[in-house]
Amino acid sequence: MHQPDAVLPDLRNLVAENEALRARIGYVMEQAQRNHEIMARHQAFDLEIVGASNFPQLVGTIFRLLPVISDLDAVTLSLVDTDADIYTVMHKLGVDFEALSDLLFCEHAVELGFEPSERPRPRLGPYTKAEHGAMFPHPPAGLQSVALVPLLRNKRLIGSLNLGSCDPERFTAALGTDFVEHMASIIAICLENVISNEMLKYIGLTDPLTGVYNRRYIDRRLVEEIARAQRQHYQISFMFIDVDHFKQVNDRIGHQAGDDVLREVAARIKMELRVSDALARFGGEEFVVLLINADLQAAAMVADRIRAGVADKPFDLAGGQSLDVAVSIGVAALDDGAREHPIEVVAQQLVASADAALYQAKEGGRNRVVMAG
Ligand code: GH3
Ligand code: MG
Ligand code: MG
Repeated sequence: MHQPDAVLPDLRNLVAENEALRARIGYVMEQAQRNHEIMARHQAFDLEIVGASNFPQLVGTIFRLLPVISDLDAVTLSLVDTDADIYTVMHKLGVDFEALSDLLFCEHAVELGFEPSERPRPRLGPYTKAEHGAMFPHPPAGLQSVALVPLLRNKRLIGSLNLGSCDPERFTAALGTDFVEHMASIIAICLENVISNEMLKYIGLTDPLTGVYNRRYIDRRLVEEIARAQRQHYQISFMFIDVDHFKQVNDRIGHQAGDDVLREVAARIKMELRVSDALARFGGEEFVVLLINADLQAAAMVADRIRAGVADKPFDLAGGQSLDVAVSIGVAALDDGAREHPIEVVAQQLVASADAALYQAKEGGRNRVVMAG
């Protein structure tokens, strides 16, 4: 039998239910849209950091973008750097650490404060200066909650990504950490990649015995500097330095102690140079120096300081012995008339004239400086 009175309330219920559902779907859609935006921003961030080609670019990108895309008030990075290898190499490659004041180094992984485990958990909670001061050396006013996220590579703790917010509810111990852990894993991969690339770059350009640049570096740098000097009209000079009678030195004190002498010679040369000058070990017991913004006279003066710096003070050897060492130096300056020639040819000529001057210094009795020309 037909019962209209019973149908009507059902219908009303359905309408109300429908409206509630719509509202819920609306909310869910909004959330989905927001999540989608966050995902898209993070994907853009991932692409950006994966594309970073060197260490300062990567770290700079993290500090610049992460606070924006993740709506954070502080982002710092702690790196485990045993024996300061990373710092030393980056410094030698010219990284400006002053510009990266939120990049922190620690000697040992335990200093990061994570529980000793193969897969340490992120530490989330309220910010306190006592506990987190080291991770946030310049905390923004009103910093309330932090997440310290371990950076892991092959179960090795390489650092910590430190996130801070002025919202006390942002990082609480109850919060899920999948998202930050995922982000940290990508950052860890990128960091390891650029660090090993920079190390390789460094190894490829330096001499393992003395730590100064190698011939490959100076060949490359010479071409760059000649091009720049010609564009900007300043003088560059080049020196060939060869240790006198080094074969006898080796014969007298042994090859090992000879190596120590070479290290000391490199150090004494370096003492006389400016930071813009480049010192390289060219081969065996030969060093070269590229002087920026120095003409032949100026270079000859530097060369004579180097000569005296080596000859005037005996070398202390392991075991209490001491030894007199001397060097001969040939100096040449970039010829202004050489502009018509290809840069590689100009570079070869510069090296050849310094070498010829060195030969004359040897012929002239050693422990002396001779200018080309
Ligand atoms: P000169 O005054 O004419 O330059 O004489 P010299 O004995 O220095 O020149 P020579 O070229 O005859 O000998 C260079 C020596 O340098 C021979 C070689 O055994 C030594 N030598 C080359 N590389 C190294 C090195 O890496 N370590 C050590 N200890 N000796 C080296
Ligand atoms: Mg030689
Ligand atoms: Mg020699």
